[in-house]
Formats: sequence, structure tokens, C-alpha cells
Amino acid sequence: MAHAVRRQFRAAKGYRLGWRGRQFEIPGTTVVYHKVLIANRGEIAVRVIRACRELGVRTVAVYSDVDHDALHVRMADEAECIGPAAPRDSYCNTAAILEAAARHHVDAIHPGYGFLAENANFAAVCKTWGLDFIGPEPETIERMGSKAGARQRMSQAGVPIVPGTSGPCSEDECRSAAARIGYPVLLKAAAGGGGLGIRAVQNPDELAMAFAASRREAQANFAEADLYLEKYLPQPRHIEFQILADRHGKVLHLFERESSMQRRRQKILEEAPGPHMTETLRRAMAEAAVEAARAVHYIGAGTVEFLVDREGNFYFIEMNTRIQVEHTVTEMTTGIDLVKAQIEIAAGIPLQIEQDAIERTGCAIEMRINAEDPQARFAPCPGTISEWSPPAGPWVRTDDGVYTGYTVQPYYDSLLCKLVVWGRDRTEAIARARRALDEFRAAGIATTIELHRRIVREPEFVSGIYHTGWLEENLDRLIAPQ
Ligand code: ADP
Repeated sequence: MAHAVRRQFRAAKGYRLGWRGRQFEIPGTTVVYHKVLIANRGEIAVRVIRACRELGVRTVAVYSDVDHDALHVRMADEAECIGPAAPRDSYCNTAAILEAAARHHVDAIHPGYGFLAENANFAAVCKTWGLDFIGPEPETIERMGSKAGARQRMSQAGVPIVPGTSGPCSEDECRSAAARIGYPVLLKAAAGGGGLGIRAVQNPDELAMAFAASRREAQANFAEADLYLEKYLPQPRHIEFQILADRHGKVLHLFERESSMQRRRQKILEEAPGPHMTETLRRAMAEAAVEAARAVHYIGAGTVEFLVDREGNFYFIEMNTRIQVEHTVTEMTTGIDLVKAQIEIAAGIPLQIEQDAIERTGCAIEMRINAEDPQARFAPCPGTISEWSPPAGPWVRTDDGVYTGYTVQPYYDSLLCKLVVWGRDRTEAIARARRALDEFRAAGIATTIELHRRIVREPEFVSGIYHTGWLEENLDRLIAPQ
């Protein structure tokens, strides 16, 4: 129905249906889509609205009833309430979103990250409604959605994986795999994400209890209890490669991001380039990342995540089939707008750039400003923002989803803002990060701004020698009252 309405609409406006029957032209300009619905909220919804506006695409925001005054609702051309606050009733409510898409005659849906972004079923249903899902094919999402399945696939494609089980496994299989590769090991939820469902096991005595607890946690968080096992790598670095792939077989990488600054296996600061990458390692990892994307016929923007051990060996851990929070540092260092690229790729437009022409300049750092109270074990801190005055000035970018007077809701992710700085080199980027953080004024709620102020002054951060466990090892000192 939506499809028919759209065709009539285009015909009435005199648009010429172009290639793939989707791209259409207004004399003088080429418009990828007429209208896109953003099935998300917060900073990423705002980010997608900005990309659409630059492309001349109208936007439809959807929102839950507590989000009626959210920034993405204010910024979109059209908006529709799709249900109550709980995500399952609104931002994950497939039926309500598709009905809104039909009512607003959109051509495509951008899922952002989180919510429905890696839901293969949703991507497939969009298709049957005649809508483009701005992301990879449902089969690819499905294939990479199981981290255990993805490991198998990557191993077959010759991409190195962390030693471990070849797929989801029973307790007995875990036990024999752990005996073979040596403790400590990690149990991981096959359907996991966001650092949840991962548990370290130090010795055989701990395995039975850990296995039962991880299965329960996996079932509760991901509605699927399957687990697999990996060797626990001591003090690894998390290095991920940005991929862009079009519908015509071109697969490009946009270099790496260093995402080792983590708390509870969740990233809080990212940078590009990786401060201690060698050119040889970069080349080998980039090749593996492109191979990984090719192996699953990837289309769109995606990220291939690796761990690098202390000896400089790298191992695939997972592929994220969506735009990532930290895409900004890649944009700032390559000059390529990844969200616009996603939209153009979905519309069937071939990537216009060649691998050799992609250059990276300078250094970018992203700091995640969350509504969390570091003094209270990072408990989310909803409430009304009485002052919101983010920094500005040269080479400072703030991607935020809030404003002064806005009330942060308890129902959603606590990310308020991404503060991103660029410098000609890492020293300048760090100086700029310090300056920008010092300018930042936020009041009424607790935030992670002060923690970032301290991190960017730490000698280990400045030297670039930090690993995924560094922040937790130093956290008590970093959050201690001044
Ligand atoms: P999720 O899908 O939940 O984000 P990942 O598998 O991507 O989980 O891992 C998240 C983080 O957990 C990694 O960045 C790293 O810090 C830690 N981690 C994952 N696998 C290992 C491993 N085998 N050894 C040590 N740390 C690991």
C-alpha cells in the first residue's frame, strides 16, 4: 500500500523514476530518496536528520510519548508518536513504525544503532512493505548477528579468530576447549552485544557455575541462551575497521579506530588513528576486514572488530552491521560522511571513491558524554538539564540530542552527547580535547565530563599505551573527588 501511494505521489509531482525504480530526479538535482523515516532517537536520530537535510531528503521522526519534546522530534520535518516509553512499545515496535512509514509515504527507514538496527526480521519486513532498509541485507544481519556463527564464517574465510570453540557449545564442550587452549577463558553469549553476557573463567572449578550464570544472563538479555568460548587475551587493544560497501561489489575500508578505552567492556572514548599501529599491522588488518566484509556480501557501512594482543597478533571478534557510535572519528580524519554514504548506498548509488584515494589526515578523538554518575557506580542519571552549553571553536564537533531544559528519560541509553575533536596530530587533538572539555558546561544532572577531563590528562593516555583493561584498573583514582 505504501508503495502504491508513493508511486502516485511521485507521478503527481512529475518525478522521474530512475534506476532501480527508487532513485528519482528533480531537474537540476539528484535526490536519493524523497523521504526517510528515522526509527531511533537521541543523538543518532539528529545525526541522520542532518545527513538527510544535506542530501535534500525530507525526514520523519518517530517518538515515544515521553519524547514529544526531544531534539530529534523538533528537528525532523514531520514527526509521529508511535507508543509508550518502553522501547518494545515504541522504538522496537515494528508494526507502529511501519504504519507511520506508510502514513508519511517514506521511501526508506534508517534504523540508527541499537533498537532495530541489527534486527534481520525488521530489515526483511521493510522490504516486503516496499521500503528500503538503510543497512545490509537481512541475511547478512542474521549471519553476523550470531557472534558464534560469525566466528565460523570468518575462520572459513581465512580471517584469524580468537582461539576457542567453533560454535555454540555445551558445558562439556566448553570444558574440553578450555583444557585445550588453557585458562583463563571467556564465556560469551552468541547473540551478545554491548559488553553484556561475557564472563571470565579463571580455572576449571569456576566453569560450571559461570556457564549456568552466563546462560541465564544471555537468555534474559538476548532471549537466547547459546554460549561460546574464547581464550581470554591479557591486556588486548580493541582495534576496529570501518567498511563501506556498495551494491555493485565495491568494498572499501576507511582505516581503523582505537576503541580500547572501556568500562565494563563498553567503549567510552575512541580515537583514529590507533596511536600505536604500525603500517604493516594496519595493512594486514585492513585486508582481513575487507575480506570479512566480502565473505558475507556486505552492503552499507559496517565495522569489523578485532583484538590485538601484546605480541601484535590480531583476531576477529565480531562485525557490527550498522553505523557505530564512534563513526565520527573516521569522518573527521577521512572527510567522508558515513551517514550520507549509507543513504546513497541503500539507494543503489555506486561508491564514487577508490581505495587508494581515501586519505586520512590528523587525529580525532571522541568522548562519550553520558548522563551517569561516576560516583554512584555510573548509575544512569535522568533528570532535567538546567544548563547545557557544549564547547565550540576550531575543530570541535558536538553530536548531541539534548538542550537546556530537556528532561533526560530513564528508559533509554544514557548517551547525551559525543564530543569530537580533530588536530593535525595527536598532541594537538589532546590539547583541543582538554580545552573543549574545560569549556563544557552541563548542570542539573551528573555526567561523565569530569572523568574525560582526567583521562585526557593521564600520562598513559597521552603516550597512547593503554589497553581494554586500563580504565578499570585506574578508575578509582580517576573518579576520586578532587
Ligand atoms: P560485545 O558484542 O558485547 O560488544 P565483544 O565480543 O565485541 O562484545 O567484546 C567487547 C569487549 O570485551 C572487547 O572490546 C574487549 O575489551 C573484551 N573482550 C572480548 N573478547 C575478549 C577476549 N577474548 N579476551 C579479552 N578481552 C575480550
